[in-house]
Amino acid sequence: MRDITTLNRLLTVRQNFVANVSHELRTPLAVIQGYMETITSEEEDSEMRLALTSRLVNPLSRMQSLVNDLLLLTRLESTESEDHASQVELASVVRNAVAGLGDLNDARQRVQISSEGDVHITGSVSELHSLCVNLISNALRYSSEGQPVEVSVQRTEDSVRLAVRDYGVGIAPEHLERLTERFYRVDMADSRTLGGTGLGLAIVKHVLRRHNSALQIESELGQGSVFSCEFAPSEASTSESAASAAAPSEKL
Ligand code: ADP
Repeated sequence: MRDITTLNRLLTVRQNFVANVSHELRTPLAVIQGYMETITSEEEDSEMRLALTSRLVNPLSRMQSLVNDLLLLTRLESTESEDHASQVELASVVRNAVAGLGDLNDARQRVQISSEGDVHITGSVSELHSLCVNLISNALRYSSEGQPVEVSVQRTEDSVRLAVRDYGVGIAPEHLERLTERFYRVDMADSRTLGGTGLGLAIVKHVLRRHNSALQIESELGQGSVFSCEFAPSEASTSESAASAAAPSEKL
């Protein structure tokens, strides 16, 4: 006798995943195909062809984001990180992530970063960069233009805490538990219009797992959300913890 319950469950998870990926790719592919048929039709003049060609950018970049996120997720699930032992100053990872978002959703204007104490941790810069990009871009996308997004990196007595707060749509309690599942979205149409792949929080969960941490979510519908996590301080900074924890707040 063999227990095949786990095996069956894994097979179902895999089947669902493949079905989801196929579905996510099929929609932009259908859009591209539709435009291509008109672009290559002999009836259209060159001005119209040019206009239609520019409309290919959106579905193409959606497919590109999806493939990039899938590759990253696969890597996070299946490999050891090469640069996992780096000393990382978390506040500078946050700053780089915001700079990388550029003018997307007015990131530079809306994100306020504050850092307090020695915020060095041991980990992978590239993975922590992905973590910050996903949390911050979600906060920007699920709140309105002009609303601030507050990112704080704080040294507490025995940890370094990263928190991303927004004042946007918020999340009803019944969704919280499933948010980090691949392709789980509260509102499919919203996520798609806002350019989401549905994989951001799954990536966040794996990055945190690889850093011995976990995602905490506090949210109130219509009021906004706080996504936070805690890391062990790097050994180099532990010895200086008392002094660092007492350091004055620095507005970046
Ligand atoms: P997506 O690409 O759809 O944003 P994520 O995995 O990043 O995928 O997030 C999953 C879902 O969690 C989103 O579709 C959205 O419903 C919800 N969500 C994530 N971040 C926020 C946030 N800051 N405020 C409200 N809802 C959020």
